[in-house]
Amino acid sequence: MWYSLAIMEFQSLDDIVARLDSRQISSLELTRFYLDRIRRIDPQLNSFVYVDESGALEEAKKSDARRQRNECMSQLDGVPISLKDNICTRGTPTSCGSRILSDYRSPFDAEVVARLRQSGMIILGKTNLDEFAMGGSTETSCFGASRNPWDTSRTCGGSSGGSAAAVAALLSPVTLGSDTGGSIRQPAAFCGVCGLKPTYGRVSRYGLVAYASSLDQIGPFGRTIKDLATVLNVIAGHDSRDSTSLSTPHEDFVAQLEGAKSPYRIGVVREHLEHPSLDDEVRTAILNAIKLFQEIGHTIVDLSMPHHKYAVPTYYIVAPSEASSNLSRYDGAHFGYRADFPKPTAESPLVSMYKSTRSLGFGTEVKRRIMLGTFALSAGYSDKYYVKALQVRRLIRNDYDQAFQTVDAILGPTTPTTPFTLGEKVNDPVQMYLEDLYTVSANLAGVPALSIPVNPHSSGLPIGVQLQAAPLQESKLLRIAHELHREIGYVPRVAMP
Ligand code: GLN
Repeated sequence: MWYSLAIMEFQSLDDIVARLDSRQISSLELTRFYLDRIRRIDPQLNSFVYVDESGALEEAKKSDARRQRNECMSQLDGVPISLKDNICTRGTPTSCGSRILSDYRSPFDAEVVARLRQSGMIILGKTNLDEFAMGGSTETSCFGASRNPWDTSRTCGGSSGGSAAAVAALLSPVTLGSDTGGSIRQPAAFCGVCGLKPTYGRVSRYGLVAYASSLDQIGPFGRTIKDLATVLNVIAGHDSRDSTSLSTPHEDFVAQLEGAKSPYRIGVVREHLEHPSLDDEVRTAILNAIKLFQEIGHTIVDLSMPHHKYAVPTYYIVAPSEASSNLSRYDGAHFGYRADFPKPTAESPLVSMYKSTRSLGFGTEVKRRIMLGTFALSAGYSDKYYVKALQVRRLIRNDYDQAFQTVDAILGPTTPTTPFTLGEKVNDPVQMYLEDLYTVSANLAGVPALSIPVNPHSSGLPIGVQLQAAPLQESKLLRIAHELHREIGYVPRVAMP
C-alpha cells in the first residue's frame, strides 16, 4: 500500500499529520515511502551523505505502537525529518562534509535533535553540505556536490544544499539546515522550497558544529510556510547549554499565522534592486511581490541601507576569523582523522602530526578561510581587518535598527540569480562569495529572515523572495510570508516525481 501512495498526498506536514491521525497510513509506511524515494532518486542528487534506514524503521514502529496506545508525543509523532550533517546525532556519523570528521560519530545529540526525538519525529538521515558549511554550492563537500533537482547540471546551493534538494524532491518532508551567511535561504531559493533562518539565539546551537559562532543559526526547510512554523515550534526555545540562547519565551508560531489581518509596512531597499548583479527576472519577481502586497492592503516603504554594500566584505572577515579559531580543535589528537604517516620534518613529531593532519584533512576552501581568518586576527593586522569589520557590522545593524522603526518587514531578493552551473564558480572564490550579497547582512545583524519560492524563471529554474524582520519577530515574519505565499498561489511541484 505504501508504494502506491501518490506524492501529491504529501505536500505538507498538515497532509501527513491528517493521514497519520486518521490511520490512513502508519509511520512505518510513511518512513518506507521516503526511504524508497531516497533509494531511487538520490543517486541522481547526492543530497544524503548517510541514510539511517534501520534506525528510522525501528523508530517508526515505536511511533506506531505509541499511536496505537493513544500516547503520541506530539502531533508530529511518526513524521520523518532529515538533518544537515553538521548537527550532532548520537550514534550516526556527523561528518560536516569534511575528510577530517569523516569517521566521527557523535556521542551525544544536539539540542535540536533531542527536541525532535522528544516530539516523536523520525530521523531519516544526514544531508550533504559544503565542508564545515563554508560555501554556497555543496561543491566543497568531501562527498562531492549535491545536484539541483530541477536541473541536475546545476547547483542546489549551499551550504545546506542537501537539505534543500531533499525537500524539493520530496525525499524528506522537512529538513534542518544551518545558516551563517545564507546557507538556508540561498539553497531554499535555488531549489524552490521555503527556508527560515531564525533570530540569532532563537534556536539552540548546542551540538551544531561551529563555523562562525556569532553568526550561526539552525533553521528549517519545508514546502510551505506553515511547515516552517510547525518545525520552529519544536526546535525554538531557551537552552542553558548554549550561552547565546535567548531566554525570551516563544509564542505558538503556527497559531500566529492566521487571524485578523493588519496592514503592514513592507520596506524595499533601494540598494537591493539597483544592484548590477541582480538578474532582470529576479527583479521582476520582487516587483510582482510588491504589487501583490499593495493589492492586499499593505504599504510599501522605500528604504535605504547605505552600509549594505559593505556586508559581503565584512562577513568575509568576521566569518573566517571565527572559523580559524573554531577549527583549531581539529588537530588529529582530540577526535576525527589523524594523518597516518606524518611527513618527517625538522619539527617535533607532535607539530608534524598536527600539520599533516590538517593539511590532508581539510579541503582547499576551508584552508583558505583558516588562512584568511588567521591573517585578519594576527597581531599588527587585527585593527585593520577584524576590528574594522566589527565596526562596520555595527553600522549594518544600525541600518536595520533604523529600518525597523518604520517597517514591519523588508522584502527583497534572496539571491542575485537563479542556480548556477556546477563548476562555474567553485574555482573563483570571489564570484562565489558575491552570491551571498543579499543574505549575509541578516546574519551580521542577527535578524530573522526567510526565503519563499515564487513563480519560476522563464528558464524553469526556481526564484526565491526574501523577507526579513526585526529580532524575535518570527511570528510576524512567518505571517507576512504565509500571506504572500498564498497570494502568489505558487505551489511548487515535486521535483523528480
Ligand atoms: N556562503 C556563505 C559562506 O560560504 C554562507 C555559508 C553559511 O551560511 N553556512 O560562508
